[in-house]
Amino acid sequence: MNKVNWKFDNTYSKLSKSFRELIKPTPVHNPEIVIFNHQLAEDINLDISKLNNKELSNIFSGNDLPKNSKTLAQAYAGHQFGHFTMLGDGRAILLGEHLDTKKNRYDIQFKGSGRTSFSRGGDGRAALGPMLREYVISEAMHALNIPTTRSLAVVKTGEKVVRENLLEGAILTRIASSHIRVGTFQFIAATQNIENLNTLIDYTINRHYPELNISKFKAFDLLNMVIERQCNLVINWMRVGFIHGVMNTDNMSISGETIDYGPCAFMDHYDPKTVFSSIDKYGRYAFSNQPPITKWNLARFAECIVPLIDKSEDYAIKLATDLIDNFQNVYEDKWLKMMKNKLGLFGEEKNDKKLITDLLDWMEKNKADYTNTFCYLMGENSNDDIYKKNNFLEWKHKWEMRSKSNNSSKENQIKLMKKNNPIIIPRNHKVEEALTEAEKGNLEKITKILSFLKDPYSNKEITSEYKIPNPESNKKYQTYCGT
Ligand code: AMP
Ligand code: MG
Repeated sequence: MNKVNWKFDNTYSKLSKSFRELIKPTPVHNPEIVIFNHQLAEDINLDISKLNNKELSNIFSGNDLPKNSKTLAQAYAGHQFGHFTMLGDGRAILLGEHLDTKKNRYDIQFKGSGRTSFSRGGDGRAALGPMLREYVISEAMHALNIPTTRSLAVVKTGEKVVRENLLEGAILTRIASSHIRVGTFQFIAATQNIENLNTLIDYTINRHYPELNISKFKAFDLLNMVIERQCNLVINWMRVGFIHGVMNTDNMSISGETIDYGPCAFMDHYDPKTVFSSIDKYGRYAFSNQPPITKWNLARFAECIVPLIDKSEDYAIKLATDLIDNFQNVYEDKWLKMMKNKLGLFGEEKNDKKLITDLLDWMEKNKADYTNTFCYLMGENSNDDIYKKNNFLEWKHKWEMRSKSNNSSKENQIKLMKKNNPIIIPRNHKVEEALTEAEKGNLEKITKILSFLKDPYSNKEITSEYKIPNPESNKKYQTYCGT
């Protein structure tokens, strides 16, 4: 039965066996659609209008596979908290690559679809709460204009999964420009098969950086481009206070999209040391450690492709090292630009960086909310008395003086700020509240939060309770790896 207009073109399945295992999802007992992203379906030209709910549930659980899909689990490796491990899709299955009418290519992947040869000790399954969490946060990131994988559907499986408790099982349909990770390169590099490494580089270039096809220095140029995209990505995370939480090299996409929403969360009050993940004991993936970890991950990527950068290993290492070493400079320039955008500053003044770090220091000392401080500066109302403190008013005066040398109108300043400072982010307690209700079968709150998060830069009718950090609890918020 083919009632959906899938246009599959499964190039990944045509790569050699080393790259993937051809395997089907394990059927589930009683699939039931929980949430479906109609807008996203439309965006990728997927017409599901001929389906009833039963058919939709069967398709997005993997019980009813599209005719032209060639399902597979991808092989990859990764440094997890610094330790190298062979991994692979242990609970995900790629349905294939769907082409929209403009020939844009999207990986369609099920997460929680059963065991594969990469499952190790795992059950291959996922629980409803974490899959809905990925749905909410990834869609929020997309609306924030941050490159990300997206979420098309969540289906309950009608089966329980065994975690600390028995939980409702679910499958997420994830859409990505690809699932090639730093860890994919690490996997192929570890097999020391230079032909496969060449194949992966060509495949990646075709898919994400086709402009490099004519390059004489493909591997070197690819490294350069990946550095640029990863740097832009982490800058975006720093802009909105996003903490990925598990930046292992297998969770870093070569396309520069945010991928794998496990223990991620948004920071409320500004503290560069913020860590939410229960397993990140030493703060390896703390807010302010995200840029150096991005560099570390890029260095692992560079190591994989060194053999193809130049015939002379020494020279190749030198070229790669120079690029990686330059990450810090590139990052700092981009960071300064991004922070100036947040403050609506045009042009360049020698004290700009100090003005910014002074504000961040003030926020840290006063436990000021990262999002709302910028909102306040954009003229949003706030009842918070900290913005009446003298030390803040002194800083604000300096900012206003600096703003005069913008040589531009106040309206232009605010316009720039509004493009860069979200008014609403997925507040941890609000997300939790919505998920708890959804797990009990009530989707009202999740629908509401999703509708607010769709338009994070405009102030249309967002209830104020969605804009403030948890007023009740100073207890540290903790997240757990998506299970
Ligand atoms: P993650 O922490 O989600 O990035 O996953 C790390 C690795 O563990 C990946 O290879 C996953 O496929 C695998 N994995 C996570 N959960 C499960 C599970 N329930 N069953 C099998 N493999 C899993
Ligand atoms: Mg992962």
